Amino acid sequence: MSTNRRRDTTELTREELARYSRHILLPQVGEEGQRTLKHARVLLVGAGGLGSPVALYLAAAGVGTIGLVDFDAVDLSNLQRQILHGSAAIGSSKIDSARDRLRDINPNVRVEPFETRLTSANALEIARGFDLIVDGTDNFATRYLVNHTSVLLGIPNIYGSVYRFEGQASVFGAPDGPCYRCLFREPPPPELVPNCAEGGVLGVVPGLVGTIQATEAIKMLLRLGQPLVGRLLTIDAMTMAFRTIEIRKDPDCPACGTHEITELIDYDEFCGSPAHSEVQQISEIQPAHLAERIARGEQLEIIDVREPYEWQIAHIPGARLVPLERIAAEIPRLDKSRETILYCKVGARSMFAAQQLADAGVSDVRNLAGGILRWIDEVDPSLTRY
Ligand SMILES: [Zn+2]
Repeated sequence: MSTNRRRDTTELTREELARYSRHILLPQVGEEGQRTLKHARVLLVGAGGLGSPVALYLAAAGVGTIGLVDFDAVDLSNLQRQILHGSAAIGSSKIDSARDRLRDINPNVRVEPFETRLTSANALEIARGFDLIVDGTDNFATRYLVNHTSVLLGIPNIYGSVYRFEGQASVFGAPDGPCYRCLFREPPPPELVPNCAEGGVLGVVPGLVGTIQATEAIKMLLRLGQPLVGRLLTIDAMTMAFRTIEIRKDPDCPACGTHEITELIDYDEFCGSPAHSEVQQISEIQPAHLAERIARGEQLEIIDVREPYEWQIAHIPGARLVPLERIAAEIPRLDKSRETILYCKVGARSMFAAQQLADAGVSDVRNLAGGILRWIDEVDPSLTRY
């Protein structure tokens, strides 16, 4: 098994003894435990909200090798929760920003950068040889990909996720423990999945969950206590209630039960295909095409379903604001002689709204692909991103 302690008899340096003295004082860690951490290899997928505290604490704790997978650049709107990155790093890659920060915290740590999107084509190759995978992703497709990679390689997966004021954590893919797919057999329909960009998140919540993931990672490496194997921790920051739910390994789980999944699949398709969703297909319009039609003076009913504060940051000319919660009440007032085009930030809320219109019999409805963020990227970069 991959979490076997790497035996190492070389002494810690004087600098290391001083740096880790509060660990070494703990009888459960001691010099031997610290040497185990020094030779440990942890792969962190995502250097964002969850990945920030994970990377900071694992580096501070002296985990010898931290693999980092991320393809994004630091954006102003990240800084409310992604404490690994600072204002000076806006626009530079998260990998570079993270590496600089981790090197400053602990120059003994080796950061292995993977500046790429984790995909079915590269996940096994990237993850092979690590002792643990820490899942800091923010979408279902990558979460299933991380889980299957963990199961196929026999590397435990330290899971965390956050939404608004709530979070979850567990340890999946440990020997005899359940995996993510045991718990969530099928992904939810994509239209009903808001991500952090859509739904918002209180900045400290990924801090709480990521810190728990870091704790679980260190416990797994040192074989301390009872890790969250077979238990799902749920956190509600509003009530500050922490609960653990027992979860069982599902003998019929296609990943870790029947082992019928023997290779990685296309997880975007798995999480987004109509086979997994009962909802009616809504056609999309590309930003450039919409811009052309507006420029031609076509009479379109363009509806922005975001919140008023988002409208204030940026909106598409000629649109009007009907926040998602008011869309059902707006249906009788829509001009049915015009084509209705809906948009939101990235396209999930407006897809949900488009579905409601279609269900109510409004026939000519389209969703702006990629929301206003793609509009900004492809049509009008002078608008403010958020
Ligand atoms: Zn499973």
